Amino acid sequence: MSQHMREARIRPAAISHNVEVLKAIAQTPHMLIVVKANGYGHGAETAARAALEGGADWLGTADLDEALELRAAGITSPILAWLFGPQDDLAEAYEQGIDLGVSSRAQLERVAAMAAKNAPARIHLKLDTGLGRNGVDPSDWDAFFSAVQQAQKASRVQVIGIFTHLSGTSLEADAEQGREFDSGVARAHEYGIVPEIRHVASSIGTSDSPALAHDMVRVGAAAYGVPVTARYREAGLVPAMRVSGQVILTKRVTAGRGVGYGHTYRTERDTTLALIPLGYADGIPRHGSSAGPVAINGEKFVVSGRVSMDQLSVDVGDSPVTEGQWAVLWGDPAEGDPSANDWAEASGTIAYEIVTRLGARVPRVVAP
Ligand SMILES: *Cc1c(COP(=O)(O)O)cnc(C)c1O
Repeated sequence: MSQHMREARIRPAAISHNVEVLKAIAQTPHMLIVVKANGYGHGAETAARAALEGGADWLGTADLDEALELRAAGITSPILAWLFGPQDDLAEAYEQGIDLGVSSRAQLERVAAMAAKNAPARIHLKLDTGLGRNGVDPSDWDAFFSAVQQAQKASRVQVIGIFTHLSGTSLEADAEQGREFDSGVARAHEYGIVPEIRHVASSIGTSDSPALAHDMVRVGAAAYGVPVTARYREAGLVPAMRVSGQVILTKRVTAGRGVGYGHTYRTERDTTLALIPLGYADGIPRHGSSAGPVAINGEKFVVSGRVSMDQLSVDVGDSPVTEGQWAVLWGDPAEGDPSANDWAEASGTIAYEIVTRLGARVPRVVAP
C-alpha cells in the first residue's frame, strides 16, 4: 500500500466528481472551489487541479501566499484571496493576477495606491451582511462605495465581484443576510459600481438556500466529500481523504491492564492490543480518546485510552488483527470506513476541523 506507516490517501477523482455534483446543484454560471488551508488538508495543488478538472472555473484561498503557491505551480485560473494583513505584499499578488477581497476603506486605499495607472487591480468588495467578521459594515457602505468609485474612475481598481459570507445560524438568518446583500449591491450600483460576479453561498448555503446562489458559489467542505447537509448526504458526495495507520505492534495482555497515559482505559479480559502510529501531533483529536472509531480489516473498534502525541492503542479483543494490517480512522463510509464526521462527533467538533488539522507528518498519497 505504501512505504509509510501512516498516510492520508487523497483521491482527486472524488473531488472532481463532487464538483460536478455541486455544479448540478448550484446551477450558477461560475463555481469557485475553496482550497485554503492546504486544500482543507488534502493538498492545495492536488485539490485545485481536481476542482478545475471537475468544472470549477475559480479557486479561492484565504491567505495571499496560498494563492501565490497555486500560481507558482502553474495554475492560471482566476484565484480570489480574501484575507491579508498590513504586512502582506499586495504587489506580488497583483503582479500574479490574484483577485483580492477588499474588506475596508483602508484596504481599498492600499490596493489602489499599489496598482499601476491603467492596469487596475482586480478586486471583490466584501460586505458584512451579518456574520460580524470580515467585510465592510453597512454603516460604512456609502463611504466605502464612494472611495471605490473614485479608485475605479482613476483606473486603479476593477471591481470584478461583490460578496458576503453567511453565518449559517438558521435559514431565516441566512435569507435576511441575502436581503441585506441585495440592498448593498443596489447601493453600489448607485455609485456606478456594477460587479459582474455576485457571490454569497458556501457549502451549506449552496445546499439549503438556492435563492442565494447568485452568479457564483464558493464551496469548500462539500467539494472534499464532507457532507455538511442532509441534501449532500443524499447527493452521493465522495470523501476524498482516507487516513490510516499501520498496525505496527500487537500484544496479548491480561485482564485489568491499564492502557496509555492516566490509565483511562483498562482491559476487561485477556485481550489483544493493537498499536497505531497516529497521534495528536498528526491532528488526531485528543478529545477522541476512548471514543474515536477505528476500522481494521473491515471490523470497527474504538480507540482505547488516551490518544497520545504519536500513537494510539486499540483493544481488538480476540479479533485476528495482525501487525502490518492497516487501521482506517476516517475515509469513505461506502467502503466500510468510519467518516470524518464520526470522528467529529466522537471528539466534540466538526468534520471541517478533523480534515483541515491533519498534521504535516502524515504523507498525502495521491491515488491515481
Ligand atoms: C472557507 C470559506 C468558504 C467555504 O466554506 P465551506 O463551508 O467550506 O464551503 C467560502 N467563503 C469564505 C469567505 C470562506 O472563508
